[in-house]
Amino acid sequence: MSETKQKSRQPPKFELIGGNVCLDFINTLDDRPSTQPKELLKNFYELARFGEDTGILKPEELDFFYERVHLVPEEAADAMRRAIHLREALYAIFTAVMNRQTAPQLALNRLNANLHDAALHSRLVQVEGGLEWRFESMTSRCAAMLWPIARAAADLLASSDVARVRACSSPTCQWLFLDKSKNHHRRWCSMKQCGNRAKVRRFYAKKRTA
Ligand SMILES: [Zn+2]
Repeated sequence: MSETKQKSRQPPKFELIGGNVCLDFINTLDDRPSTQPKELLKNFYELARFGEDTGILKPEELDFFYERVHLVPEEAADAMRRAIHLREALYAIFTAVMNRQTAPQLALNRLNANLHDAALHSRLVQVEGGLEWRFESMTSRCAAMLWPIARAAADLLASSDVARVRACSSPTCQWLFLDKSKNHHRRWCSMKQCGNRAKVRRFYAKKRTA
């Protein structure tokens, strides 16, 4: 019998609260409003971990990169540059849309270049019950995992759901998320993190004025 047992997987590294992979991707620059934002994608391994946490990469595809990426350092560095450019372009576009402003052209051009790349590497394939869009193998190149992210962003931006994209109300957080709550009044990235902190602040403010 062949050895098919998976290595035990690590617990997720990224907090995926965005409700859409492209918003989770934007949130990989943490503490954006501060003077010292925290980069959660410091190298290709972290980008690949993001890929696994979000389901873009299967565990064996993550292993493939972990084992081989040191053999193609330039391609990996290029993928990293593209990833950060795409992320910042998405941030600029979504913030503009949230503020009912025109999206910056440079950012749109960047997203479009990524969409182009994604289209070049996707095709319609016959699956049970019909046809489906499929990307080439996620291990075909280091930047492959940006294809589904760019596509998800374009789909969201062109849909009516884009009106439900919000930034966390905490002034120090401002993570983006898709508000899927029934009454569309979600204010926090997560109640556990920012929601609770705000509650505690209100409690102490009340105590002071009592
Ligand atoms: Zn928050």
